[in-house]
Amino acid sequence: MLHEKIKGLHFGSFYLTHSKPEDAALIYHDQTITYGDLHTTVEKYATCLHVSGIRAGDVVALSCYNTPEFIYSYLAITRLGAIVAPLNLTLTIDELTYILQDSGAKALFIHEKILGKLSASTEQLQAQFRLKEVLVIGEALTARVHTATAIEPPEINPKAIATLLYTSGTTGKPKGAMLSHENLIADTVACTDVLDLTSQDVFMCVLPMFHSFGFTTSVLLPLYAGSTIVIHETFHPKEIMHSLIAHHVSVFCGVPAMFVVLAQALKEGKVSFPSLRVAVSGGAALPVEILTLFSHQYNIPLMEGYGLTEASPVVCFNPLHGEKKPGSVGLPLTGVEVRIADEQGGNLETDQTGEILVRGLNVMQGYLNMPEATADTIVDGWLHTGDIGFIDSDGYVFIVDRKKDLIITRGLNVYPREIEEVLYKHPAVLEAAVIGMPDPVKGEIVKAFVVPKPGETLDRRTVLDFLKPQLAAYKMPRFVEIIDQLPKNAAGKILKKDLRKQ
Ligand code: AMP
Repeated sequence: MLHEKIKGLHFGSFYLTHSKPEDAALIYHDQTITYGDLHTTVEKYATCLHVSGIRAGDVVALSCYNTPEFIYSYLAITRLGAIVAPLNLTLTIDELTYILQDSGAKALFIHEKILGKLSASTEQLQAQFRLKEVLVIGEALTARVHTATAIEPPEINPKAIATLLYTSGTTGKPKGAMLSHENLIADTVACTDVLDLTSQDVFMCVLPMFHSFGFTTSVLLPLYAGSTIVIHETFHPKEIMHSLIAHHVSVFCGVPAMFVVLAQALKEGKVSFPSLRVAVSGGAALPVEILTLFSHQYNIPLMEGYGLTEASPVVCFNPLHGEKKPGSVGLPLTGVEVRIADEQGGNLETDQTGEILVRGLNVMQGYLNMPEATADTIVDGWLHTGDIGFIDSDGYVFIVDRKKDLIITRGLNVYPREIEEVLYKHPAVLEAAVIGMPDPVKGEIVKAFVVPKPGETLDRRTVLDFLKPQLAAYKMPRFVEIIDQLPKNAAGKILKKDLRKQ
């Protein structure tokens, strides 16, 4: 059934499946863009890229805020059979350099405000990263696109790679997860079915588009269903609540921290969202209290899902009509299998805890240029998620812990090891360990423990000043504790669980 539905679909056509040209596709500030306009603009963006020498298989990086231009660029790149590599907006120049080099990007779409912040000219970027073209999203590009005439686009193979999403694995070094058109469209179509989406739905898009959770749930799903997307750059609670009401938003996908804020406003009786028919929470564990409040007190189904970049990203969802189990991430999507494995990869039984493995049309093709990491992650077709959980007798999946020491702050991933590696570069640091601490609003915040070398002294300010130029703001520790020694096991491995207890 799913195979039938996705047959032949790719990014050049999927958004035309359920939409009519006159339907509203995007709402951004006071601008409404129809599906007809969207299609025309995407084709013209594709022409500009083609003129710049971009062809099928080339990687094009994309650094842009949540705007219609992000969507035009993404769809135009993939329309040509090229591969889009969306960049996290908070990356430092070093992190950006790593990704541009590792991906072998041939061109870069960059928003003019972001370019301004980098204090580099397009010529400098072009020369430094050997790019064929730097396309600056702003007035000049709009004018250039306006005069472009659409080219005859190439045939697209749905199995071809569409996007390269950089995500950190256990090593802390970002890896480019390669997702095909088919991977993403299979995930999109399966989610659309779970949520009963139609062209009448209006989506709130406030999750960052550069992240897999944001792009799939708040852009691909509505585009496939022919729904309308209300675009916001960031989560300003008042602005978002006003927009939810003003635009009659019916579907809202967010991270738990957003629902914490909305729940508080609902509790204080300040607002109500009569048009909201379903809310989706993902990216991190949703507090049961928030789930109960939404579902029981305000009658808004808040559905928790689970996923990871490598799975396009959604794996499980609580059903819209069936039982939603608090604390569970629900049932596997159509076309997706989940099993729980022991250390050797053997099957575990119902209610037994082990690593969550995933198999299905949504599982990535591998990590770019990293055959070893790929072989460690996808074994006999099963994606090893690094998440620990169990499946109950009704088939519902529960997440217990993360095998990898991932910290998730405001829905963004922070890998302790990456921060630890920077800390170890400080000449006065002997040892360092980074953990996540629970935070009611951000989900988790980063805390670093640092042991100075004998005879050296360190303080919090010195450590933070050292980290600041080397790390994106969201990765910066909120707390730094200088201690004499780190707790270790007999093998000398740092016991992070003991640090967490402190
Ligand atoms: P990313 O690849 O950035 O999408 O991060 C994926 C990771 O987020 C997963 O491997 C999980 O550790 C975590 N995650 C996603 N959804 C949930 C959830 N509902 N509950 C707990 N952890 C989650």
